[in-house]
Amino acid sequence: MNDSSTPIDESVAEESAVGTHFIHTRIKKEMAEGKYEQVITRFPPEPNGFLHIGHAKAIVVNFSMAEAFRGYTNLRFDDTNPAKEEQRYIDAIKQDLSWMGYEWKNECFASDYFDTLYEYALHLIDHGLAYVDSQDAEAIREGRGTLTEPGTESPDRDRPIAENKDLFERMRAGEFADGEYVLRAKIDMAAPNINLRDPILYRIRHLHHYRTGDRWCIYPTYDFAHGQSDAIEHITHSLCSLEFEDHRPLYDWFIEHLPVPSKPVQIEFARLNINFTVLSKRKLTRLVDEGHVSGWDDPRMPTLAGLRRRGFTPEAIRSFCHEIGVTKSESVIPFGVLERNLRDDLNVHAERRMAVLKPLKIVLTNFEAGVTESAHLPNHPQDETLGTRDVPITRELYIEQDDFMEEAPKKFFRLKPGGEVRLRGAFIIRCDEVIHDETGGIKELHCSFDPESRSGLPGAERKVKGTIHWVSAEHAVPATVHLYDRLFQVADPAADKDTDFTAHLNPDSIETVEHAMLEPSLKDWPAGDPVQFERLGYFVADPDSRADALVFNRSVTLRDAWAKIDQAQQG
Ligand code: ATP
Ligand code: MG
Repeated sequence: MNDSSTPIDESVAEESAVGTHFIHTRIKKEMAEGKYEQVITRFPPEPNGFLHIGHAKAIVVNFSMAEAFRGYTNLRFDDTNPAKEEQRYIDAIKQDLSWMGYEWKNECFASDYFDTLYEYALHLIDHGLAYVDSQDAEAIREGRGTLTEPGTESPDRDRPIAENKDLFERMRAGEFADGEYVLRAKIDMAAPNINLRDPILYRIRHLHHYRTGDRWCIYPTYDFAHGQSDAIEHITHSLCSLEFEDHRPLYDWFIEHLPVPSKPVQIEFARLNINFTVLSKRKLTRLVDEGHVSGWDDPRMPTLAGLRRRGFTPEAIRSFCHEIGVTKSESVIPFGVLERNLRDDLNVHAERRMAVLKPLKIVLTNFEAGVTESAHLPNHPQDETLGTRDVPITRELYIEQDDFMEEAPKKFFRLKPGGEVRLRGAFIIRCDEVIHDETGGIKELHCSFDPESRSGLPGAERKVKGTIHWVSAEHAVPATVHLYDRLFQVADPAADKDTDFTAHLNPDSIETVEHAMLEPSLKDWPAGDPVQFERLGYFVADPDSRADALVFNRSVTLRDAWAKIDQAQQG
């Protein structure tokens, strides 16, 4: 206990943590009116794929509202469609949610409510509010009408209650084939909202369910299961994306006509869209299944598993979600905004190291062979608590090929013949001679160093225009480095309905650099830990990285090369 701590003003703490968006404002008012004791929310993924950054928005909205108002959040798997759901997706979703730093109160499954939902269906039948329809899917679709024309009533709509009940029980008993019958709510075929035109509640599907096995051969539709699942769990606020707005009257109708234990309210917010990528599980599944990426956790994927492997931190994703806010209007967020949040986080936390991606050998002709000196470098320019390290310097070093130009323009301030440059943390060198190979390419540079310019000596103050990074040829450890670019070449890959979105994949979305050279302190760098390679960007060791086969992924560059492009896009 810290007795001297000042009490926190809770209202201020709430608002700074979650922002004040319209949902927050509304719930705050309801709480002030005493409508609720606490706010109970849920995050309801369907376990048919990995979570993506769009889900992160929904996660942050749901968890932060419960946190702000003394409540909790359930994790509920909306597993009513046995055709696509798998245990491995459940495991991945839980892993991602924990990684994001959220703890759910109860782990729930819509499939746990199959018995209750079945009872609810019988309840509607008993009250003349549901009927068994023998029309096929095609006829039902046609009968629903359009936005401008009312639907037409099914010939089975007035089937007697007893007959409906008998047929529904026999549907459940497995007497009929898939598609032979469906159970429909009896609402209003002329309703302006098509969702109210006798929606389907149950379908026959002789399919094995990953959790309930072969116990059921009828499955509730998402529309029938979702709101009732919320009610069963006593969810107070069902926060979901805008596409469910038109379904709300239907959900309210169910809640009104069923003996549910609670009455959740639904509030919708706009989905997250990000440019140069896709955020739909159907499309992401195709990228994986068709081998366009290496898996759900490919670092180019907008999935949480992919972003994690790319080196994103939970803090960066959460701060991104808070920055974009919660509104009711659709917008497209530039990918660069996500990257900026990562850059801002890593700038504070990532240690600095030197690495040469495309090595060019230099020989310091006046540096004694066999001698190792060391450069003493801070691990972080601002944060002294991150310590220092000694980086070995020897007669032969590697610098970046890009840091040398044989025929350099005037404004080129890195190394050129006869020119000088400072080696970061070491001393100034001059390029005396360029050694070519048989094909005329550059083999190595012969340079001399200025002993007086070593750190700590008076000459260290001598000014030269450029400072470049380097590693000792003798001590450097080789690594494979992945550099990433946008996954798609166009801002909205799904915009053109006549072209398959995969046609817009960026063929250069990954560049693999095979023989990068890293300073020796990176040899045992733990997988998942961020590091800045000075001047090159932020990187992370891949989970497949081994001490004898290092693999690093670039998480983000130091500057946003896309800012201009995004600006132009937005006009
Ligand atoms: P997808 O369109 O990618 O298949 P989904 O909505 O079918 O997504 P679910 O597993 O049903 O996937 O989503 C769980 C929750 O996440 C839902 O409440 C949904 O509203 C929300 N969600 C999904 N995508 C986004 C997004 N892009 N932005 C905000 N919330 C999202
Ligand atoms: Mg969905």
